Amino acid sequence: EPGATVKDLADAAGVPPARVVKILFSLGEMKTQNQTLTEEEIELVAEELGVRVELTEAVDLSAPEPEVEDAPEDLIEKPPVVTVMGHVDHGKTSLLDKIRQTEVAAREAGGITQHIGAYQVESGGRKVTFIDTPGHEAFTEMRARGAKITDVVVLVVAADDGVMPQTEEAIEHARAAGVPIVVALNKIDVPNANPDMVMGQLAERGLTPEAWGGDTVTVPVSAKTGEGIEDLIENILIVAELEELKANPNAPASGYVIESQLDPGRGTVATLLLTRGTLHRGDIVLAGTSYGRVRAMMDYTGHRVEEAGPGMPVEILGLQGVPEAGTGFEVVEHERMARARAQQAEAALRRQELAQGGPTRRTLEDLLG
Ligand code: GDP
Ligand code: MG
Repeated sequence: EPGATVKDLADAAGVPPARVVKILFSLGEMKTQNQTLTEEEIELVAEELGVRVELTEAVDLSAPEPEVEDAPEDLIEKPPVVTVMGHVDHGKTSLLDKIRQTEVAAREAGGITQHIGAYQVESGGRKVTFIDTPGHEAFTEMRARGAKITDVVVLVVAADDGVMPQTEEAIEHARAAGVPIVVALNKIDVPNANPDMVMGQLAERGLTPEAWGGDTVTVPVSAKTGEGIEDLIENILIVAELEELKANPNAPASGYVIESQLDPGRGTVATLLLTRGTLHRGDIVLAGTSYGRVRAMMDYTGHRVEEAGPGMPVEILGLQGVPEAGTGFEVVEHERMARARAQQAEAALRRQELAQGGPTRRTLEDLLG
């Protein structure tokens, strides 16, 4: 819980931290500079100092951390969650489409494929979850909201164009988030593709390809012909394995909203990505200011499912309100509690908006500066 510390309050009030420590001591509280204060303590100290403080709490809409650590024996491997990033026109959408097609083609006919914002592919009996929102939208926005969704970033670089500004931006985002990068050297089918030139550019940015003695997995692909796609997925799994991605399936479900919208016929349609636990139809989901009982749940092929485990994307019906992408969700036991907490979140958001003098919804442009 990132609250205000003794030092924060002292700084805000323009007094030395020792003064705050002393006041707290006189109130019977022993606190050091970097310890956080309760709301009550802040008010008491402020009163004592004769200053007015305004509590503009940061509204935390991220998924809750489990209260108890999962026992190692309860953990199972979970599919890595992959976000595709890269410069405009380097082939992010094409690559995601091709990967999805490969999977759809491999499935028997009958499954209606619809875009639910995320999908899974299988390789050697293991699954990979792709967030189907190419570009920076998914990643930047969710990360700005504190969401830790992505386990691996696939950096798409066109072999005929090389490293460009948004490529560099993507590298920075992935690094800041501590997420490993797998490079998809795309468009190797075009006559003027120059993989060596691109590998040199990558090496200059600290992403030295394995073929050059570095440790960045770099896979030549063509989103047009499909060449290298299987290889890419296998390599994603290899990189993911080093991350030891595990989750407890026997816990109350929690995770993130990937996208949501209001459908005139079906109400709120939200795509959730589970990071922990198992979600069941009928569970009560709380996602920021939205909540509701899961009325129906569909996997990424549109098939109805009764439950979903860690790493799995599902579309759910039954929420009231339309939570923003990147909002954390959790399952709560009683609808009454969900409603109360959704209202609390709503009130906190309103206070924050007031304190900031306007709505807090940020646009992608704001985030990208
Ligand atoms: P995005 O902006 O990164 O999503 O890029 P797109 O997927 O929209 O692709 C931009 C253009 O490059 C489109 O005209 C694609 O058809 C083309 N393209 C993407 N991947 C390949 C590829 O591997 N080979 C060839 N020849 N063209 C590609
Ligand atoms: Mg695109």
